[in-house]
Amino acid sequence: MNQLTMIENQKQFNCAYQHNQPILTVVLDPKLPNNQRLLCNQCLEFNETTAKTMEFQNIIQIIEDEYKKKLNNIEDTIKINVKQIESLLSTINQLKQNINQQLDQLINIVNNWIQNIQIIESSLNKYKYSFFEELDKLIKDPKNLQMNPIINNILQINQSQKSQFNSKLQQFKDFAEFSKCIQILSNIQMDQISNIEEFQTENLLKSNDQLKVSSLNYTNNLYNQMYLNLTFSFYYKHNDILISNNGKIVDNGDGVWGYCMCEQVIPKTGKILFAFEILRIDHWCEVGIGFREMIKQHGYRGEGQGKGSYLLRETSTTYFHHSNNTQGKAINFQVNDIVIIEVSIEQKYIKWSKQNSQDYLITEIDISQDLYPCVYTSNSTVRIKDIS
Ligand SMILES: [Zn+2]
Repeated sequence: MNQLTMIENQKQFNCAYQHNQPILTVVLDPKLPNNQRLLCNQCLEFNETTAKTMEFQNIIQIIEDEYKKKLNNIEDTIKINVKQIESLLSTINQLKQNINQQLDQLINIVNNWIQNIQIIESSLNKYKYSFFEELDKLIKDPKNLQMNPIINNILQINQSQKSQFNSKLQQFKDFAEFSKCIQILSNIQMDQISNIEEFQTENLLKSNDQLKVSSLNYTNNLYNQMYLNLTFSFYYKHNDILISNNGKIVDNGDGVWGYCMCEQVIPKTGKILFAFEILRIDHWCEVGIGFREMIKQHGYRGEGQGKGSYLLRETSTTYFHHSNNTQGKAINFQVNDIVIIEVSIEQKYIKWSKQNSQDYLITEIDISQDLYPCVYTSNSTVRIKDIS
């Protein structure tokens, strides 16, 4: 508690008539100047003021009581404020510990990741093949001969470590290093695009049933390639769009619309198949492929000419980046349908079809930039359906 201190010296106070006597009374008249308001015993004998008066000691008491209250109030306020700010400090310290912990966990994941892959390298000397098994494959199933199960292991490690890493990384979205990490992650091979190239004996075994579609360089003789684990990108999408189920489900609510790109690029060779299962359409739902960079530049919104995507809507409306040759007919789809999309960069086409249906639509595509599977939705839910 502060000392009560009056600026003026009380002993030097003099009455209105300069009697040099102790002050007894104060005249509470707002019109009087301060030096006319104080009265001593002698003044009181002839003063006949009609204004209200009060004992000098009482007045001092009242003023000091108020002053004390103010001081108390200030002290209380300071204490409360400091306490609150201090709790902010302790919370920030907790945050600091928490972030350190989270970063340590990220570092652990990455160290494990490296170790897990290096273990495979150190076990390569035990990797042996059986001539007769391989010979059998060569004759009966040349595709199988090319299968590389160890690469598969590496990709599986990449997949599981990436999804662990990704979910922990999300909390650092606002840091510049976040997008750098996402960029690095997107360059790491995650999915086994069963990378089957034209094989010598293949030509001997291949039947001669090439189906050529006029005006389109569309042939049905390319081997199907499948993404074993296609996922939506947590990064290359409109901000308001939600991704769940380890990147398998894209969802947006009322008044939210935009693109969500898949993490994996469409390979330059062969043809690739992927499928979207339609879980909910409360506004609109378009599925197809797009140029990731162009769509990003457009803020993940807008379809049609020049917008960088080839999309088919549930109503069978199409939105194409450029006008082009088409084959078949635009199909519609609805909730519970599985839309299968086939793309070949080599042969410059995309084909939409539905599971359990013969209908399809094929259109020519621009392949001047990398293409990614994508959806463009409003108030809808779509799941990546793993097919094989
Ligand atoms: Zn006096």
